[in-house]
Amino acid sequence: MAEEMSRRERRRQERKEKKQEQKRQQQAQKKKKEFLTYTGVLAVIVVLLAVGYAIAQNAEVKTDDSGATPDLQNMSEDELLSYNLQSHQNAARHIHAQLDIEILGQDRSIPAQIGIGPNTMRVVHTHDNSGKIHVEPPVPVEVTLGNFFSVWGKTFNSSCVFDYCENATHKLSMYVNGDVNQQYGDKVLREGEQISLIYEKTG
Ligand SMILES: [Zn+2]
Repeated sequence: MAEEMSRRERRRQERKEKKQEQKRQQQAQKKKKEFLTYTGVLAVIVVLLAVGYAIAQNAEVKTDDSGATPDLQNMSEDELLSYNLQSHQNAARHIHAQLDIEILGQDRSIPAQIGIGPNTMRVVHTHDNSGKIHVEPPVPVEVTLGNFFSVWGKTFNSSCVFDYCENATHKLSMYVNGDVNQQYGDKVLREGEQISLIYEKTG
């Protein structure tokens, strides 16, 4: 009788151990699965970070759709002038100067939309043909009258405006707020300034 009991007892013990062993195995498997999942997720994050970093490194400095602040102060003139504002959203400062050009007694109107294309807007541009020059860089940076002519694609220097150059009988004068100015293309555009370029006969 006692032997019968102990055999039953042993079988019960065996079943119990078997169950515990199964449970251990299941838990081990679960842990392994969790570890693989974590490792996988971690790997994906690492890859995403690496790809993001690579993209950030290669991002075009000339566009601001990445949200990064462009380093316009340290850009070359070409980079500054080819920088695409895309919109007025990021303009750090708004400067408007008035430019009038008179050639041989005739006022030359300055076209609207200089520096503005279907998907582009340069740091210096016009909206209408009133001669109002808009300087709207995303970070404070000085823009010159020469920069405006570069965006416009027209000649301007100390002796020529468009194809009109100084010679024995003609001169080019520049005025800022009515005063003679000899900075020409180097003139930094300032808020509210009135700039006049006059090409005329001298005698
Ligand atoms: Zn504008």
